[in-house]
Amino acid sequence: MGNTNHMQGKAILTINAGSSSIKFSLFSVPQLNQFVVGQIDGIGGDAIFKIKWVDQPTEEVIAWPNNECPKSHRESLACLINWLHKALHDVKVIAVGHRVVHGGQKYSAPTLITEEVMDELESLMVLAPLHQPHNLEGIKAAQEYFGGIPQIACFDTAFHRTHSFVDDCYAIPRYFYDKGICRYGFHGLSYEYITERLMHMFPKEARRKMIIAHLGNGASMTALHNGVSIASTMGFSSLDGLPMGTRCGEIDPGVLLYMMEHEKMDAKAISDILYKESGLKGLSGGISNDMRTLENSDLLPAKEAIDYYVKEVKREIGALSALMAGLDVLVFTGGIGENSSMIRARVLKEMSWIGIELDEDSNLAGETIISDDHSRVLCLKMHTDEERVIARHTFGLAKMEMSEE
Ligand code: AMP
Repeated sequence: MGNTNHMQGKAILTINAGSSSIKFSLFSVPQLNQFVVGQIDGIGGDAIFKIKWVDQPTEEVIAWPNNECPKSHRESLACLINWLHKALHDVKVIAVGHRVVHGGQKYSAPTLITEEVMDELESLMVLAPLHQPHNLEGIKAAQEYFGGIPQIACFDTAFHRTHSFVDDCYAIPRYFYDKGICRYGFHGLSYEYITERLMHMFPKEARRKMIIAHLGNGASMTALHNGVSIASTMGFSSLDGLPMGTRCGEIDPGVLLYMMEHEKMDAKAISDILYKESGLKGLSGGISNDMRTLENSDLLPAKEAIDYYVKEVKREIGALSALMAGLDVLVFTGGIGENSSMIRARVLKEMSWIGIELDEDSNLAGETIISDDHSRVLCLKMHTDEERVIARHTFGLAKMEMSEE
């Protein structure tokens, strides 16, 4: 078990409760240095708990005998909280920040969670049925354990509330828009982190026309001008836009009607196909949802899945650039965007028509700037850090809350 002798004082806890995992981090107060990062993976199966103290070389791994594995998010959170209780006897958690996927049309900023807010977030569950229930479970468990300390919700949709009506609506009868059937956009915490870093690193360029490609297991791209989101590839749900690990990305709604009418599939069956069996996994014929595995495969379906992925990313670069009438900065982030020099090279190949010239050596070496000196568009690859954004907002709001008491 990691020791806490070196770590005393106050901390912010961040919780990111996903569909089969719970990620957490601890940040010291007031410096907001991250000192622990961990996760419980495989919830519902052979769950495994990993904890890494940032200043220690190895990670602690807790595996349970089969029948003692936490079976639900609630049980997993109880394990996490139990661990926190034992390991952090010298550290006081003063606030908890939660990643919440959906803030609907209303929430455009991090928010202190009250009973009323919780009711509203529960009413948004229908908009993100695979994520929001787990996010809210995390909040409830933390409220139970931590009693009166501030709990802050940080929304993935909030960053995109700057879009114009035309960039948020669908061309269906208008009353659907009024019911909340519109484009929300996701991955906002990642876009916020990258934008802020760029404002420090390249203040002039970061205010120009920029595309950030968040290419992870989930993937989306956002067009920004002056650091503000203008349009994003993800829409009403986290299915739209780019193909993902297991999600389909953009698809003709006629395909879904066909599945219903002719394949006699119900909503659950279609949802399972689109969320869990499509994307890289579906197109590769089940070889993998993991880009690394596909890159290492010699099989044709793996190659074709990558070809489709690259084509879609290229297409969205073109589409988003057209919306902004130009492009000055292109950033790759997320597990694939940050780590796959092959995907970056293939996306940026033959893009000189838009002013992109790749520096192949910098790209292969994994440098931050991957465009060459003649490139009109500055191309970058960066690490994203959603937890840090959550910690910063949580500390900010918690300070205000505590000063008012
Ligand atoms: P994320 O959801 O951001 O953790 O990203 C997960 C995705 O990143 C998976 O598809 C991984 O295969 C992919 N990934 C991580 N490292 C690499 C790498 N070195 N090369 C290619 N893909 C990678």
